[in-house]
Amino acid sequence: MSVENAKSAETPPNAALVKEKRKRAKYILSIDKITQLSDEEKAKLKEVSKRYAFRANDYYLSLINWDDPKDPIRQLVIPQERELEEWGSLDASNETAITVQRGVQHKYGSTVLLLCNEACGAYCRYCFRKRLFMNDNDEVNFDVFEGIEYIKNHPEVDNVLLTGGDPMIIQTPKLEKIFAALREIEHVKIIRVGTKMPAFNPFRFTQDPELLAVLRKYSTNEKRIYFMCHFDHPNELTEESRAGIRVLQEAGVICVNQSPFIRGISDDPDVMAELWNQLSYLGVPQYYVFQGRPTEGNEPFETPIVEAYFKIEEAKKKCSGLAKRLKFAMSHESGKVEILGVDERHIYLKYHRAKNAEDEQRMLVCHRDDQAYWLDQLRPVSGYNNPFFRSVGSQVDRDNFERPERPERSENGVGAFN
Ligand code: SF4
Repeated sequence: MSVENAKSAETPPNAALVKEKRKRAKYILSIDKITQLSDEEKAKLKEVSKRYAFRANDYYLSLINWDDPKDPIRQLVIPQERELEEWGSLDASNETAITVQRGVQHKYGSTVLLLCNEACGAYCRYCFRKRLFMNDNDEVNFDVFEGIEYIKNHPEVDNVLLTGGDPMIIQTPKLEKIFAALREIEHVKIIRVGTKMPAFNPFRFTQDPELLAVLRKYSTNEKRIYFMCHFDHPNELTEESRAGIRVLQEAGVICVNQSPFIRGISDDPDVMAELWNQLSYLGVPQYYVFQGRPTEGNEPFETPIVEAYFKIEEAKKKCSGLAKRLKFAMSHESGKVEILGVDERHIYLKYHRAKNAEDEQRMLVCHRDDQAYWLDQLRPVSGYNNPFFRSVGSQVDRDNFERPERPERSENGVGAFN
């Protein structure tokens, strides 16, 4: 076979057409529009989407292998009936407690989160902020500039995270005003943007030179803009999304990746290793892997801490040092708690960021519990003076310890948090 023939045999006949079609992503807001689902499936899943919003786009749906019911992209974006099982709470990290004004969260002294909008390029079924997409939620302040006023008055804040929802849904002229206003504040050095748009809709970047010009203007040599990208699976690293990352990097944006550990999507060590290695080739280090928060509707996606820890360690064995710089952490209401290690008897944790300054960098040692999903379910080592456990942990002796509330085992082996 000649080289030309070999090439054409590898190239699908409609590749040019596909490329042509994929210059934009078209939003799909109703399960009814997914032709690959049967009428019966649509009827069942519409019930789920009445509770937890559904949103996708034709580009992202085109990544699904519809012959595989366990396809990771399918699980990520297509509702499942099990989401309706009772489990968890809508605000598992108690973000309400750190909301200082509408749309502004201030938990760690130097960092402020601005919730800029309540929509994303698609909706991840496991989202821990799915409450924002519900009709009666008003946590987001569309007037981001009120939040920027707050930051102006807080000189201890040197970095700001634009989040939501996905800020990259916002139109370019408004984004420019937000970046410009933040750059006028001398004490704000780093602007971070939490976004899954490079995975959901890379055309937002490849087809919008105006946006790239804005990013180039405000991500300067002295003060960078960081994109906290959100790739969950190597299948998302398409030609299009790689091009999206490339143009962002060329615009001076520093891209890193953060993603949760999600059952059925990113819980396979080979898959995680492949994702982190591939990202490292693109110059996008994996920054955090998050333990899934016990969020309402997320039962199908969650995994106990110990199981997740060992799978992540297994994945790390297959990675270069550059690819495995990540931290495995819980975004708990008391702080960002890194899971450092697990042995036969204990789980070793450390506050990477802490809500209370006295906890910053503090070590925690808890009894190993292979069924625990979240910090609240762990039992501190007797006599350990940890402020989060202050009310129970420091005075507890091991034999008489009253366990924190634990999930009941449900039929499928996953606990219920209520
Ligand atoms: S992109 Fe982020 S905020 Fe949006 S649905 Fe996914 S996890 Fe939630």
